[in-house]
Amino acid sequence: MPAPIRVAVLGATGSIGTQTLEAIAALGPDRAVVVALSAHSDEEGLLAAARAWPVAELALSGASARDPRVVHGGAEGLVRLVERCGADVVVNGVAGAAGLMPSLAAIRSGARLALANKETMVMAGSLVMDEARRRGTRVIPVDSEHAAVFALHERFGADSIEELVLTASGGVFRDRPLGSFGSITVAEATRHPNWSMGAKITIDSATMANKGLEVIEAVRLFGIAPERVKVLVHPQSRVHALVRTTDGTLYAQVSEPDMRVPIQNAITWPALEPCAFGRLDLAGARLEFSEPEAARYPLLDLAYEALRSGEGACVAYNAADEVAVEAFRSGTLPYLGIARVVEAVLAGRWPARVATFDEVLAADAAARAAARNAVKGIHV
Ligand code: NDP
Ligand code: MG
Repeated sequence: MPAPIRVAVLGATGSIGTQTLEAIAALGPDRAVVVALSAHSDEEGLLAAARAWPVAELALSGASARDPRVVHGGAEGLVRLVERCGADVVVNGVAGAAGLMPSLAAIRSGARLALANKETMVMAGSLVMDEARRRGTRVIPVDSEHAAVFALHERFGADSIEELVLTASGGVFRDRPLGSFGSITVAEATRHPNWSMGAKITIDSATMANKGLEVIEAVRLFGIAPERVKVLVHPQSRVHALVRTTDGTLYAQVSEPDMRVPIQNAITWPALEPCAFGRLDLAGARLEFSEPEAARYPLLDLAYEALRSGEGACVAYNAADEVAVEAFRSGTLPYLGIARVVEAVLAGRWPARVATFDEVLAADAAARAAARNAVKGIHV
């Protein structure tokens, strides 16, 4: 029997992290074991996760740890954990731009990167894919739409694929009258109809910035032109993505909305193994699809605009959205201000190419400063 897959779980206390630990437990210790765990400030959650994996190395990136078993601290500590733990697969479930450097460290260590952190691809997709090619390793998407495309892409090959269709639930405000968007509260925006996820991505699902980030992620992961990536609203979240092959046929990936399926597949790749989650019975199911309304989801069009503008604008799109969502959550920006902040930041000048990780981080910092300024000019 082959040795178990050694897995590092970054962001172990989050939505992706906890589901990763469930998927690993379901695979069983003969198939997968956890060698490293990280959290940002939730030390208790980190130690609770470590109970099942007493030999795993631990990192707490955003607070000083009280427990001596947590040996790595700070953002550098998280990178060190990845470098040192000897994982075969690194599952990156860190939230936000902070996920970029750990992704790079994973690839540089030669590990396979099971990537939930979409910001990695949005900010530095070409650099990261180049690095993976150089190191002879792979980036396996965990984001459900990209995992679906990936499975179909592997079967058909890039040359046989004409377009990708990512589905979007439409979020919690899909049917809310547009005239009432001015009064949307944080509590309303952090409820998702189909998925249970972290707060940032849930708000991004309501605005469709999440789908905007995913369009950029798909362009970088699959090396496809932006105009060949389409989005359809599909309220049931059963069809996660489709590919149209060159004969005009559409192929869909269909399952219950359960992240443990793409997580397991990314861990065991290239093997496809029996899975305890996500099996869907289609009898009686209703599956609907429609075009997203531009007025409801301005952040989707802004993502295509960022793609047309270039790599720097994609970094700016992500950074501006992170700042704007944070401001919305803290009560200093209205819901409708999120798109206005991103639009204002994208109107600045951004480099068409980002050739190094330092340039990525510089564009990220500049966009955050511009976004904070834009927030100040919009009143609640
Ligand atoms: P959560 O907010 O639930 O969890 C985030 C995790 O990252 C936590 O473990 C948190 O630690 C840690 N973390 C937060 N900030 C930092 C930081 N600055 N540096 C290092 N670690 C940090 O997020 P999700 O699990 O929902 O999302 C994680 C990523 O996966 C995002 O990029 C998201 O877009 C993507 N994704 C998520 C999906 C989902 O279903 N949830 C689906 C597809 C993609 P602590 O608990 O200590 O704060
Ligand atoms: Mg997704």
